Amino acid sequence: MSRKKNNLNNIKNSDHEAKANLTPMMEQYFSIKNNYPDTLLLYRMGDFYEIFYEDAKLVSKDLSIVLTSRGDGIPMCGIPYHAIDNYLPKLVKLGYKVAICEQLETPNEAKKRGYKSVVRREVVRVVTPGTIIDEYMLDNSSNSYLASIFFVKKRTKIKSHDNINENLDINSINKFSVDNNQSFNDSKTNISYNYFENPDNNNYDKIDINQIDIDKKIINYTNNSIKLDNTEKFENNIEDNNIINKNDNIDYSTKVAIAWADISTGEFIINTVELSHLHDELYRIMPQEIIVPDSLSSFLEDIIDLNSIKAITRRPNQMFCFDRVRTNITKHYGVSFTDGFGDFTENELSAAGALLEYISYTQKDLAPLLKKPSKLRSKDYLQIDKATRKGLELCYSINGEHKNTLFNVLNYANTAFSRRLLKNNIIFPLTNVEVINDRLDNVEWFIKNPSIRKDIMNIMSSLPDIERIVMRITTRRCNINDLLAIRNIFSKIFSICEILYGNDDLVNGLLCLKDQLGGAEQLRYELEQTFRENIIEQDGIQSFIRPDYNIQLDKLYEQKKQEIKKISELVEKYRIITKIDNLKIQYNNIIGYYIDISLKNAKNLNNPLFHHKQSLVNSARYKTEELQKIEQNLLFYTESIQNLEIEIMNKLIRMVVEYSDSLGIITFALAKIDIACTLAHVADIYGYTRPKVTNNTIFSIHGGRHPIVERNVDNFTSNDCNLNITHQNSNEINFDLLKNDKYENKVILLTGPNMAGKSTFLRQNALIVIMAQMGSYVPATNAQIGIVDAIFSRIGSADDIASGQSTFMVEMLETANILNNATDKSLLILDEVGRGTSTYDGLAIAHSILHDIHERIKGRTIFATHYHELNEIVNEMNRCECYHLEIIERGERIFFTHKVKLGYVDRSYGIHVAALAGIPHQVIEMAKLKLDMLLAVKKQVKIISKSY
Ligand code: ADP
Repeated sequence: MSRKKNNLNNIKNSDHEAKANLTPMMEQYFSIKNNYPDTLLLYRMGDFYEIFYEDAKLVSKDLSIVLTSRGDGIPMCGIPYHAIDNYLPKLVKLGYKVAICEQLETPNEAKKRGYKSVVRREVVRVVTPGTIIDEYMLDNSSNSYLASIFFVKKRTKIKSHDNINENLDINSINKFSVDNNQSFNDSKTNISYNYFENPDNNNYDKIDINQIDIDKKIINYTNNSIKLDNTEKFENNIEDNNIINKNDNIDYSTKVAIAWADISTGEFIINTVELSHLHDELYRIMPQEIIVPDSLSSFLEDIIDLNSIKAITRRPNQMFCFDRVRTNITKHYGVSFTDGFGDFTENELSAAGALLEYISYTQKDLAPLLKKPSKLRSKDYLQIDKATRKGLELCYSINGEHKNTLFNVLNYANTAFSRRLLKNNIIFPLTNVEVINDRLDNVEWFIKNPSIRKDIMNIMSSLPDIERIVMRITTRRCNINDLLAIRNIFSKIFSICEILYGNDDLVNGLLCLKDQLGGAEQLRYELEQTFRENIIEQDGIQSFIRPDYNIQLDKLYEQKKQEIKKISELVEKYRIITKIDNLKIQYNNIIGYYIDISLKNAKNLNNPLFHHKQSLVNSARYKTEELQKIEQNLLFYTESIQNLEIEIMNKLIRMVVEYSDSLGIITFALAKIDIACTLAHVADIYGYTRPKVTNNTIFSIHGGRHPIVERNVDNFTSNDCNLNITHQNSNEINFDLLKNDKYENKVILLTGPNMAGKSTFLRQNALIVIMAQMGSYVPATNAQIGIVDAIFSRIGSADDIASGQSTFMVEMLETANILNNATDKSLLILDEVGRGTSTYDGLAIAHSILHDIHERIKGRTIFATHYHELNEIVNEMNRCECYHLEIIERGERIFFTHKVKLGYVDRSYGIHVAALAGIPHQVIEMAKLKLDMLLAVKKQVKIISKSY
């Protein structure tokens, strides 16, 4: 996907100057375009959106639309207004921001202001990748997030200056060089005098050199020692000198605030992460667009993976300034800033306020009211870095699709909003045992009550996307169908409640949801009193308001009905008068009601009642005084009905807005129930079991399976995985140790040839943890999992060509991240670390990484390797055990059983796998000879193959 950044502001000056004699309309165009420099401006002219200059060239190229030019040589192309829905998604998908400029008056109205007046036009909306609200442009099973990032360069507060004038004896310096600015460098200590940092004691030593006497080898200087306050000061008033460049010495522990919102659902979340985790967090959120302050933009654009985000939008620094964000937030929520809004840091408020301002910049008068932001606390969620998330294919496969992902396996959700919540649960597994067990209780209850589950899932599948409908209503982009959809959800919710809450054994988690489902009773009453279930058409009149709701409206319907009846009577009457049997009365938008007579009959028509209006190829059209009168009456009644209907709709819209919070709570409760049903259904059909989730570091999985691979192969071989030290030769957990939380974690060293199933085994254990901690049953016969704080993996193998990093560099970066951040509560899965370099290099690196994990980190670890030599060093590590993937050799051939067994293999079977892959016979034979020669010098090691 190509990114269109900053290339839209380019109506060149020369273009501008060349058009000194712009028409008033083009002047208007420029005055609008100047306010929307980084957007494509779609300028409404009658039935077309016209696009001019550079914008036109880009659009014509990207959308293959013919580029023409106005009479005065201005390049232009146009999109018919009724086809905008086809073109807009394409432009936004390409990363463009599109400003839609509409005519706000008719040409006739403009003329009233003066003959040469230009029709008044204004941008009514800017459509950007992160601010889409239109149903047809959104994926209903995914949120569409706009994110805003803010942090400031760490500032230090100066406490005191000591200006001491001293002489420095250069003899005490090993070697020095003096530059033009009279600073010098001591090569022994590698200190550059003039300005150097000594962070250990919070001092900066600034040496101002007064005089250097090379002959006497004396430097006279003033020592301006600056003592720094320990507290960090974050200035919220960004100045130009606060611009951060990639070359700056950035402290990666700097706290970065991220605010993100889905304007199609109203969801709004705020979090703070360390700069070093920003990348992972963004990959978790997957925003469609990120707004960043100008001063940080080039730095952030450098560290954010541009491939996974469609648009990075630079906004002026002032948008993030504290006073301004305070005003924006207060305005949006109508709260007094300090109370009522929540406990957020200044940086978080800056990110949030700028996000709100950007939303109103793009949505203009129709900006949605977002829910109050919730603050996310990272430690409440299982941390999964970008590489792991990508490698495990949680919600998107490597190809960016839902197919073959965990989400796809679990997604039996019945509503769009529960599909989005399911995805969020997969993205944010929990760390709180009680909450996880509550979720599991709900799932278990639905497993025990399959017929109730089926009934509820049936009703759920008839529910519309309440979240997005409510958002459309609150932003006044709705139609009557949206209101009717909300009207009709209540009876369905009532049925769900009836089915669910008649059960005595209902678990607490589901009981708690009952109250939440009961909100908005008054709204339900009003909607059901006002609207019919569906729009009905009776006697030529469409109606959606219940009879008896409004007497005046009923009267108007009746009057309109009578007028329509009169038209049928007129047809009969005119057929008799004219003796033309096929005479019809029809309607079109241009001439209104007319009498249609075939040309043949029209020739003989000689009746003064009939006034000729039009002749077509086969027929002629007439009007009569009587018909005209009926038409006027119909017009009057139709308009009156419309006005009254709009008035009634507006009243109900206001009510939905008033109840939007309650509707949000109802939707969330419904989504939770649906997800419990979904996960119970999946557990049932795929044979999952309830994991035992505890607060220690136990890890014992029996009969574990890979949830995705098992869907794609005929006979999946299940495997056990125990990552704690057990009694010797037994699989029993030592519960005494466990009680004292002294359970020791184990490192599994896993060997086996390619294709034997190593990666599958590594991934399935990580996926089982994620499933358990999101509150799902797991593909295993038994699983006990002590809460994992973070999953770290080194499993990908693709070159990150886009970022210019080699396989080995990517591998080392990912491994460094693991070693720097993993704890003894983490799960580490490493696949063939060290593969990307030479044998000895790789072996040395793999060995020392394994050692560090075993000795220092002590997390639960599976370390797959093709370095058989590592098996031998395991003897030195008391908490490391060797396992291998079983291979059966039959003559020349090998068979993979995919069974993980205790012990190790001393062969790679690479040549066998190569033969299986179809490498030519002569190459395989030669390789075998070579291998025999190499092995002849090596001692043969027997496969130790004990039962696990
Ligand atoms: P390795 O990492 O050892 O090269 P993989 O884990 O990639 O091997 O597995 C290769 C293929 O073997 C998988 O794509 C899958 O089709 C099959 N496979 C792996 N594990 C199992 C298993 N436990 N049961 C059945 N088939 C499996």
